[in-house]
Amino acid sequence: MSKHDTEFYTELLRAYFDSANDAIFVLCNELKFLMCNKLMEEWIGHSEFTLTSHNERHPITDLLGDAASIEKFRNSVEQVLAGKPQRLECFINPDSAPQRWLEISMTRVDVEAGDMIIAVARDMTRQREQLAKIHYQSTHDVLTGLPNRVMLQGLLGSCADETDPAAALVVDIPRFRDVNEALGYRTADEILKAVARRIEVTANDYQGTTTGHLTGNRFAVVVSGKTADSIELIADAIHAALSRPMQHAAMELTLGSSIGIAQFPAQVERRSNLLQAAETALHHAKQNMATGIKNFYPELYGAGSERLSLVNDLRSAVDNCRIHVHMQPIVPLQGDGGVRLEALARWKRGGIDVPPDKFIALAELSGHILPVTQLVMEQAIAQSAQLIRDGFVSGIAINLSPHCLMDRIFTERVEALIERCGIPASSLTFEITEGVAMSERMHQYTVQELRSLGVNLSIDDFGTGHSSLCKLRQLPVSELKIDKSFVRDMLVDKGDATIVEASINLAHSLDLKVVAEGIEDDATLACLVQMGCDYAQGFCICPPLPLPDLLKWLKLGSAKSPQTANQ
Ligand code: C2E
Ligand code: CA
Ligand code: CA
Repeated sequence: MSKHDTEFYTELLRAYFDSANDAIFVLCNELKFLMCNKLMEEWIGHSEFTLTSHNERHPITDLLGDAASIEKFRNSVEQVLAGKPQRLECFINPDSAPQRWLEISMTRVDVEAGDMIIAVARDMTRQREQLAKIHYQSTHDVLTGLPNRVMLQGLLGSCADETDPAAALVVDIPRFRDVNEALGYRTADEILKAVARRIEVTANDYQGTTTGHLTGNRFAVVVSGKTADSIELIADAIHAALSRPMQHAAMELTLGSSIGIAQFPAQVERRSNLLQAAETALHHAKQNMATGIKNFYPELYGAGSERLSLVNDLRSAVDNCRIHVHMQPIVPLQGDGGVRLEALARWKRGGIDVPPDKFIALAELSGHILPVTQLVMEQAIAQSAQLIRDGFVSGIAINLSPHCLMDRIFTERVEALIERCGIPASSLTFEITEGVAMSERMHQYTVQELRSLGVNLSIDDFGTGHSSLCKLRQLPVSELKIDKSFVRDMLVDKGDATIVEASINLAHSLDLKVVAEGIEDDATLACLVQMGCDYAQGFCICPPLPLPDLLKWLKLGSAKSPQTANQ
């Protein structure tokens, strides 16, 4: 190559380097800059010349915004220098450019001059903000701004030391419906806000308390590390605070309260059962007195033997293949893609439907979830195979429990099934809830195996778990399903509408498709079309149906597709 050629190619490479949509930079093994492209200059507010000229050179760690990012970066570099490419998210806070969240991928190159690190960075600030907003809105009550049930439950589950005592108080404002009816929703909302403040201020006098808002007139206080005596003191103080008259406009109201208490480890075996136990205690408090305080005792559950007989019946239903499936269509909203189906398990016990949420949880606890999933999968694939082959539907989605991902031969079973029924792997989708996808229980091994088989993965109940953006990008998923709790009220609840819209934008910016589930009316459907949602599922399109009814819907119902219905 002539000198002229070399110059030409160097110039060409430089132009290519500078025109990239990602920031690219090269670091020496002391983490100082050796090169960077135009975008990186812009992001850190210094020219490449200053960054690389000898007496100005600073390590990149000087730009990192917080101690956690520095530590994470250093650990990753260690791995990179040991030959293992890394991807990490970190926060930069340069003095002459705006703060940003970057996702940085790093690899080592060995050249004569020594080891170097080539890094490619992507700006994740907007997605981070969207995710933070979704996280905030899905963990806080919109009216009072207090933590909601999801957050309190997370708080109870996340304690480092499993033996630390904890307690939950659930506070109910009796006859609040009367206030609603007499004064109207707007005034009632203002009163609820005042009640929230009163409970919070009272609880804040005690250490280790977090006040939350469960639903309309129900609040909770989670307490960590208290003895039984002081928990009753807190309950007394809240009870007294709510017995004092409350001034609203020209009115004086005295509301009162009923309070249920549950304590760990004295009364419940697990911290995560505390809220439920306190609600059970509250239920008894309300039954036995107009207002008052009631402590939880396990015998209040009274469900031990009933639970046992349910497990026995479930075992026999599984053994005798008496778990069935209904299927619900998931229809495209934006023109591309066909109708898909979601398989939902059904169990009739003594002629009465047991809610799937209940028997699936029971199957998980009692170790029957693998055979239940196998039964659902076999029926769902067998029933939909012909429809898929004939092009009536494009695929079938099946819900997976975390236990399935821990089953070493789960992928083999799936492979055998799709071969037997003659459908392509790409027509199968597994739905994994957001909570599981983000947790330690997410077994990467099975997930990767399933992906290499060619099946699709979808994150179910999105918005109810705590997503990490980095994890979300790393998971080989193709779709998010926005949880129905946000879709249900999105036309009347601004907070829910924001979550839905932000989730759609977030999914699209990560190249994922979005499904909204739980759509019960045409107006919500039309709004989702406007927001750019890709797929829809809900009672207003079609409820879950057994195969014969579904066939009728497919023949008739597909004629009224939501795209045409909402134009
Ligand atoms: P999911 O996966 O979120 O399933 C969607 C649920 O929403 C279904 O409840 C469906 O009937 C319901 N749904 C659909 N459209 C609407 C609507 O417009 N409004 C409302 N309010 N609900 C709607 P279902 O069948 O009761 O199932 C409940 C949950 O039980 C499922 O939630 C899923 O988590 C679990 N489940 C069901 N079948 C299986 C299964 O085979 N395996 C596993 N692991 N879980 C299952
Ligand atoms: Ca699902
Ligand atoms: Ca769902």
